[in-house]
Amino acid sequence: MRARFAGGVHPDPRKAATEKLPIVELPPPALAVIPLQQHLGPKSRALVKAGDAVLVGQKIGEAEGFVAAHVHASVAGKVREVSLQPHPSGTAVEAVVIENDGTDTLARCEVHSWETSTPEALREMVREAGIVGLGGATFPTHVKLSPPKGKPIDALVVNGAECEPYLTADHRLMVERAAQVVGGARILARILGVRRIVVGVEANKPDAVAALRLAGGQGIEVESLPVMYPQGAEKQLVKALLGREVPPPPGLPMDVGVVVQNVGTCAAVYDAVCGGRPLIDRVVTVAGGGVSRPGNFRVRIGTPLRQLVEACGGLSPATVRLVMGGPMMGLPQASLDAPVIKGTSGLLALTRDEVPARRAGNCIRCGRCVRACPMGLLPATLALYAQHQLYERAEALEAMACIECGSCAYLCPAAIPLVQHIRLAKSRIAAARHQRREKEAAKAAASA
Ligand code: SF4
Ligand code: SF4
Repeated sequence: MRARFAGGVHPDPRKAATEKLPIVELPPPALAVIPLQQHLGPKSRALVKAGDAVLVGQKIGEAEGFVAAHVHASVAGKVREVSLQPHPSGTAVEAVVIENDGTDTLARCEVHSWETSTPEALREMVREAGIVGLGGATFPTHVKLSPPKGKPIDALVVNGAECEPYLTADHRLMVERAAQVVGGARILARILGVRRIVVGVEANKPDAVAALRLAGGQGIEVESLPVMYPQGAEKQLVKALLGREVPPPPGLPMDVGVVVQNVGTCAAVYDAVCGGRPLIDRVVTVAGGGVSRPGNFRVRIGTPLRQLVEACGGLSPATVRLVMGGPMMGLPQASLDAPVIKGTSGLLALTRDEVPARRAGNCIRCGRCVRACPMGLLPATLALYAQHQLYERAEALEAMACIECGSCAYLCPAAIPLVQHIRLAKSRIAAARHQRREKEAAKAAASA
């Protein structure tokens, strides 16, 4: 066991319903709705139009800029339209809608030997495959594999913590596809030029630890970590595995010589390089008391969330909340109309037993939120500043360092929606910073 990080909470893991269930391949959807925005960065530009024929794996969205990702067709068929469609974020987003012709015809793909390919060529393969962080952050992977010259990297940390309750998609992936996870990690290490690969897995997944140790042999360190939320957050994982402190924002793991990648991302990198397969599907956990047959599914990107729920026996009328992702950091869904995207790690249908109704009260200054915060922040004070629109004060108290993990709100006896308040403060601070930068740029341009 390694060191633990400061703060954190112990939510009920609720993983028993799915952690032993093998991944099941979900049939491709009859109509795939593939958003052109599935990553951090600007949305991709559509490369197809209504009436075009497309093949599985064909690029249909071109990344606009470096911090962006390509988008590929997950089914073969005819493009019905390129139009605004429901998106898990809650806003309508431009998407390519493809009528599946049922042939599953693959686009021509190239398979490579990663041992003989150059790091530059491998990085380009990752970019071409449209791979993003599959832990949920959806940061374009090739960007993380391009550290600036002044930041030497000496370790790759692979994130197999999966600390969110209910989710077991990464767990099953590590057990069932350990060789691909390890293979992808080796490819990433080659791109980065590092020899040290450390995989962190929470101790409640001993079968995943065993499978990775077997697949990795001597060359890879697989560490069993204390079960503690948010163990899978980058800063906390780096601290727990390597004892290194990532500096406060805008500090990144690469400031202490580390790049962090999720186990799902590693497997996707392996599939892209060694199988010529771009990112067209992913593993999703469907769970919660609102579905009678929960499970883990390999799902094509663009599959309607409704189809996942139908595969689990339909939605119980007792469902009171739908969440894409885990219950701590996931995105609430108003309906099942949105599709699975690259960042969909789970779909939860939660009942009243699982989400007790609580009315927000007044802060009783118990300090639990402060003790729970893994970033050493003052959540109650930040929330208060946000409520009174004192955003500059919130900024001075490092509101931007909040990773929105929800630990503070989880423990708050007054049920104060601390994260929502802090999130609002962060968005206002970001907008103010943007305005300041624009003003400075205009001033500089005027005096030039
Ligand atoms: S949501 Fe933010 S303030 Fe609350 S515990 Fe997590 S990091 Fe701290
Ligand atoms: S946990 Fe809730 S009640 Fe306690 S200090 Fe924090 S905000 Fe106040």
